[in-house]
Amino acid sequence: MNLGLEQKSVLVTAASRGLGLASAQLFAAEGAKVTIASRNEESLQRAAQQIQTATGQSVNVVKLDVNRPEDIARAIESAEEFGDGLDVLVCNAGGPPGGSFIQLDDSKWYQAFEQNLLSVVRLTRGAIPYLRRSSAGRIVNITSSSIKQPISGLVLSNTMRAGVWGLTKTLSDEFGAYGVLVNTVGPGRIATDRIAEIDEVTAQREGIDVAQVTEKFIAQIPLGRYGQPEEFARAVVFLASPANTYITGQALLVDGGMVKNL
Ligand code: NAD
Repeated sequence: MNLGLEQKSVLVTAASRGLGLASAQLFAAEGAKVTIASRNEESLQRAAQQIQTATGQSVNVVKLDVNRPEDIARAIESAEEFGDGLDVLVCNAGGPPGGSFIQLDDSKWYQAFEQNLLSVVRLTRGAIPYLRRSSAGRIVNITSSSIKQPISGLVLSNTMRAGVWGLTKTLSDEFGAYGVLVNTVGPGRIATDRIAEIDEVTAQREGIDVAQVTEKFIAQIPLGRYGQPEEFARAVVFLASPANTYITGQALLVDGGMVKNL
């Protein structure tokens, strides 16, 4: 299947590693003009080099903290200039800290709101005029399997991701008339640095080996393993492509069957 992404202009935020980087790399492999944005200049350059080596495509890099509206405006402008328009927006950010409800004060709630929900609002607001002009405007929001089944000890993530899912559905309704398709993709347990860090912390807290932690999680996954970032990226890239013509307002989990709800 030809995804039709050649020469399409794509902005992926939080793309210096993990799921954002894997998605950006696959967009580049499909011939898209990709802008990657993240906080750290050095890791961005490393990510750009990795994509160049793997795909032969050079990508545009822009420094962005999704908590800063002025960075968001600059990233969109830069992607628009580099790609001669903007066809695809992939909203991603680092996850909020874990912790139970009782441990979290207002400042933690505000931070999580700004980084994981308001950032999607701001990115969408900035990008939508360009996406409406595109012949195949697409938004993909990266969330979590917690939009279907909340995860214990991650109250901030559970709450903000559910907000992004509600926003996604609402935007798909409002922007459908302009041919802009909006979806969310939720990872279950995809083997990125973040997941490795979380497993390490869990192991320390429970006084067991990391291997035992991983084993416990894998026992809940019908496919019997963590996913790979490329496997997640394929879902993002398809939903964001012109080949996706009729899927909008959906939440797709890439979780190896982990979440059991219908
Ligand atoms: P990761 O920690 O490996 O990568 C996160 C990326 O976000 C990095 O490039 C980092 O520099 C960037 N980033 C962090 N804060 C930022 C900010 N304020 N502005 C701009 N960039 C910022 O994480 P990942 O595993 O790739 O996950 C991506 C998202 O998906 C996260 O929100 C994570 O919580 C969520 N998630 C991941 C999994 C999984 O299985 N990997 C599961 C559930 C949810």
